[in-house]
Amino acid sequence: MAKKVLKFGGTSVGTIDRILHVAKIIKKEFVAGNEVIVIVSAMAGKTNELLEQSKNISKNFNKRELDVLLTSGEQVTSALLAGALNEIGVNSKSWLNWQIPILTEGKNTNARIINMNISKINIFLSNKGVAIIPGFQGISKNGDITTIGRGGSDATAVAAAKIFNADSCEIYTDVDGIYSSDPNKIPVAKKIDKISYDEMLELSSLGAKVMQPSAVQTAMMYNIPLEVKSTFTDRDGTKIFSEESIDYSKSVTGVAYSKDDAKITMIGVQDKPGVAANIFEPLGKNQVNVDMVIQNISLDQKTTDITFTIKRDDLLKTIDILKKNKNVKYDTMSHNNKVSKISIVGAGMVSTPGVTYRMFRGLADEKINILAISTSEIKLSVIINEEDTLKAVKKLHTIFDLD
Ligand code: ADP
Ligand code: ASP
Ligand code: MG
Repeated sequence: MAKKVLKFGGTSVGTIDRILHVAKIIKKEFVAGNEVIVIVSAMAGKTNELLEQSKNISKNFNKRELDVLLTSGEQVTSALLAGALNEIGVNSKSWLNWQIPILTEGKNTNARIINMNISKINIFLSNKGVAIIPGFQGISKNGDITTIGRGGSDATAVAAAKIFNADSCEIYTDVDGIYSSDPNKIPVAKKIDKISYDEMLELSSLGAKVMQPSAVQTAMMYNIPLEVKSTFTDRDGTKIFSEESIDYSKSVTGVAYSKDDAKITMIGVQDKPGVAANIFEPLGKNQVNVDMVIQNISLDQKTTDITFTIKRDDLLKTIDILKKNKNVKYDTMSHNNKVSKISIVGAGMVSTPGVTYRMFRGLADEKINILAISTSEIKLSVIINEEDTLKAVKKLHTIFDLD
């Protein structure tokens, strides 16, 4: 007998038929003698629909109320799934964030789970019940309903696996594992059987939305092995775990991309000590995350150009902050939000020379212009024009033998 956390994503519970199908998967695990804790997402599209409704009321919708609204999606699927299980003879019960409670800290819409009080759920499990816990939601110390960031049901699953001391944490979704690139966009992408936490963290942070980055980070921190598998087939999924047992015969494991970046260039910035700090300090203080930064060499020793990237959603706010910044003198500023970030990720990159030039050569062969570059030990990212995204991903996929 094992204690299992099973998480079902939005597509997996997207219709009543699918919820009935998920109930059968859970029943199978339960009848096999396992203790089962289920984490469930809202029906596919529901969270976006609720978000849109809030925007129709205000572009600046109150964040506390937004969390009350958004958590309703997971409330619906929790109850429907518990009802479906009871209907097929499995004793099941759902608990909402405040009933457990799932304690979080941090701001509304971006909180973190810090604890769950699982004593009553454990009693229910030992009395042969299947527990359903809504993903993505929590409650703050002062009693406000919170959410933990988009895609956050993954993080709820990992937190539950840790707190319940589960033997396994299985992420059921609409693809049958982690692929070398998004299989819905790059049909030649290959399934990866095993992947390290580090690589998965890079891939998901760089746009592979199949796992939420903070969930991977928590799994890595507590060494919780994960398996990503399909709700709709019986095929083995992808195992995510610590590095030792992984084969790095390939320099690059996967290619990720995101289209949520924007680029700002400031031309003719005064070139003297402290200027970069003066530009970026107010951005940091206003919660704008700066990703890549490029500063050109100053030819006249007086002025330079600085280019940097930020999240696209922060573009207007950033321009506003820069325009109001009296401590920075510059000639002109330009911006481009039709850019995307393409990244290659692989723990094998550390020991393979030439990965960088092969990436650049491949993009050049496709006449794709590189607008900014950033690297770390196991990833290389470039900013390019958005229209070249798929062409670039396909090319890199081929160059690094991932097709
Ligand atoms: P869920 O609702 O189950 O959480 P998501 O939509 O969040 O599912 O994540 C699954 C999707 O992630 C897939 O349908 C796929 O399009 C996308 N995806 C992006 N990159 C990858 C990748 N490298 N491997 C597998 N899926 C990926
Ligand atoms: N429903 C939430 C979202 O769409 C959480 C999740 O599905 O993981 O972001
Ligand atoms: Mg998801």
